[in-house]
Amino acid sequence: MIAPGQWLGLLGGGQLGRMFCHAAQALGYRVMVLDPEVEGPAASVADQHICVAYDDMQALDTLLDQCHAITTEFENVPAQSLAILARRAHVAPGARAVEIAQDRVVEKAFIQSLGVHVAPHIAVNSLQDLEHVPVKLFPGILKASRLGYDGKGQVRVSNLAQVQQAFTNELGSVAAVLEGLVPFVQEISVVLARGRDGQCVVFPPARNVHHHGILAVSHVSGETSPVYQCAVQSAKTIAEGMGYHGVLCVEFFVLANGEVIVNEIAPRPHNSGHFTQNACVTSQFEQQVRAMVGLPLGSTQLLAPCVMLNILGDVWYPNGAAERVEPDWASVLALPNVSLHLYGKIEARQGRKMGHINVVDQNFGKAVERANQIVDLLNLPVRAFL
Ligand code: AMP
Repeated sequence: MIAPGQWLGLLGGGQLGRMFCHAAQALGYRVMVLDPEVEGPAASVADQHICVAYDDMQALDTLLDQCHAITTEFENVPAQSLAILARRAHVAPGARAVEIAQDRVVEKAFIQSLGVHVAPHIAVNSLQDLEHVPVKLFPGILKASRLGYDGKGQVRVSNLAQVQQAFTNELGSVAAVLEGLVPFVQEISVVLARGRDGQCVVFPPARNVHHHGILAVSHVSGETSPVYQCAVQSAKTIAEGMGYHGVLCVEFFVLANGEVIVNEIAPRPHNSGHFTQNACVTSQFEQQVRAMVGLPLGSTQLLAPCVMLNILGDVWYPNGAAERVEPDWASVLALPNVSLHLYGKIEARQGRKMGHINVVDQNFGKAVERANQIVDLLNLPVRAFL
C-alpha cells in the first residue's frame, strides 16, 4: 500500500484529472500532473504540473523519481508511456487496457472474444473494405477508430455512396469502423473499480441521455432490473478479461427485448459516473485513488437517487446570445439537495464540458422535478424524466 503523503502521478489534465486531484488530496496524497496544456483544469489544482508532451522521456523520469503510483484520466495518452512507467511504478490502468480502449476495432474484437455483444460492424481501412458492406449496416455510423470522443469523428450514413464520401472527405481516410445503427430503447453505463488483487466493486448503473453525441443527463433511480444485472455482469466480465486495475466504465445500448450491447468502454472515471460524488458512499474518483495505491475499495452503495445534469459552454450564451452571460447559479443553488461542480475552465465554448450538477433526493420523482427546475433556469437541452 502506498501511504497518504506520498506522490501520485496523473497523465492528462482535464476535468476528470481535476476531480481525481481533489479526491487524492482529500486522502492526503500529493499529485503530479503531466499535461501538455498550460492551463488545464487539473493543472490548476495539482501539487505540481509538468507541462510537456506525454512521451517526453525526461518528464516520465521525473514522474518515476517522485511518484509511486501513476494513473491516467483519458484513453488517448500513448500506451507506450504507460508501459515505460510500469517498469518502475504501479500503473493503473495498465498499458494493455488503455491500448484496447484506444481503438474501436480492437476494443470490439476484444469484447466479442469474451462473449459480450457489440454493435454489428466492419473495420474500414480503405475504400476496398467498403466494397462488400452488408446492407444490415445501413443506416449506420462511420466512426474514426481512434481519437474520437463525444460524437466527434462520427458521421451518420444511409447508403454506400454516403459512407464512401464520409470515409474520404469527413474522416480523411483514417482507419474507421462502420457500425449499424442500434435501435436502442435506452442507453446505460456501468462504472466499476477493480483492485490489483481482483477485488471488484460496481456502482449502480446510470441511465444516460445524449444530445448531439454528448452526455446531457444521467439518471440513477436505485431500481434494479434483469437488464441492469446483465449489464453489471458484462462489465465485470470485461474488467476480468482485461485483468483490469483501476476504474472502468462500460457504456451499453439496451434493446427492446432487454438485450444489452456494449457501445464502448472508457479506462477511467466517466462523465456518467459523476453522480457518485454526491449520491454514493465513495466517489468514482476516490475509487481511482484507492485502487492505484492498494487501499481497500470503498462502498458503492447509493445513498439517494440522483439526476446528473451536464453543463456545457452553451449555458453562458442563452438563446444564442452574442455576449457571455454568467448563469444564475444563485437560483440553482437555492434549490435543496443540489451540488454544483464547475471545472474552472475560463472559456465557455459551445459544446465544451464546463461542469455538472447533481440533484439527489430519497424520492427519485422529487430529484427529477428539481432537476427540471434547473433545466428551465439554465435553458438546458434535455429534460430529466422518470
Ligand atoms: P460514442 O462516441 O460512440 O459513444 O457515440 C456517442 C453517442 O452516439 C452514443 O451514446 C449514442 O447515443 C450514439 N451512437 C453511437 N453509436 C451508435 C450506434 N451504433 N447506434 C445507435 N446510436 C449510436
